Amino acid sequence: MPENKKIVIAVDGHSSCGKSTLAKALASRLNYAYIDTGAMYRAVTLYGLRNNLIANGKVDEAELTAQLHQIKITFRYNKVTGESETYLNGENVEEEIRQLPVSRNVSPVATISEVRKHLVALQQGMGMEKGIVMDGRDIGTVVFPDAELKIYMTASPEVRAQRRYHELKAKGEDISFGEIKANVIERDYIDENREESPLRKADDAIVLDNSYVTPDEQLDWAYEKVMERLNRNGN
Ligand code: C5P
Repeated sequence: MPENKKIVIAVDGHSSCGKSTLAKALASRLNYAYIDTGAMYRAVTLYGLRNNLIANGKVDEAELTAQLHQIKITFRYNKVTGESETYLNGENVEEEIRQLPVSRNVSPVATISEVRKHLVALQQGMGMEKGIVMDGRDIGTVVFPDAELKIYMTASPEVRAQRRYHELKAKGEDISFGEIKANVIERDYIDENREESPLRKADDAIVLDNSYVTPDEQLDWAYEKVMERLNRNGN
C-alpha cells in the first residue's frame, strides 16, 4: 500500500445493511480511524429520551436544539472487545443506543436541521487529517463531498431485518422479526424523504448490494477499490 497517502472513505446506505461491519473491517485493514455517525445521532436521541424531550414519537425540537451544546459524544477504544464504543457525557452508552427505544426515535431526531449541522461539523473535524472510514447516510453527499472513495450500500429489507433480528436475539432481546422489519422500512422511508440531507447515492459513489455477499468478500472488494484510488492518485 502507498505509505504516505491517506484518503477519506465514505460508506452510506440503508439501515442495517452492514455498513459498520464493512467500514470497521476496512478501517482496521488500512489502519485508518473508523467513525460510526449513526451512533452520534443515536446518542443525541438517547439524551432526548432521558431528558423527556421526546414523548410519544414527538421531539421537542426547540429544547433539544437549545441543549445540543450540553451533549458531549466521544468514542473510546475498548481493549477487551477490540471495538470503539460510544460515550454520552462520559457514560458508556454503546449498548443502550442500539436498543429499540432509540432505534424507534432516531430517524425523527435526525431530520432536525440544527442537530444535523452540529453533528456534521463534528464529523468534518474528525476527518481533517484523512485516513478515515466514516459510515452514515450523508457522508458522501454532505459531510465529505470530496471523499476519494464513496461506497453506497444496500440489501433487501428482508435480509437486513433478518440480520438485525439475529443480532438482537443473540443479545437476549425480546423482539419479533415483524417489529424489526417494520422499523427498518420506516427508517428507510424517513431517511430518504426528509428535507434536510436525505439519504441518496452520491453521483460518484459505487453501489454495493450485499444481500448475497459475505463480509469477507465485501471487504476484499472494498480494499481493492481503495488500492485503485490510491494508485489512481499517482502514488
Ligand atoms: O447507522 P444507524 O442505523 O445506526 O443510524 C441511525 C439513524 O441515524 C439512521 O436511521 C438515520 O436516521 C440517522 N443517521 C443520519 N445520518 C447519518 C447517520 C445516521 O441521518 N450520517
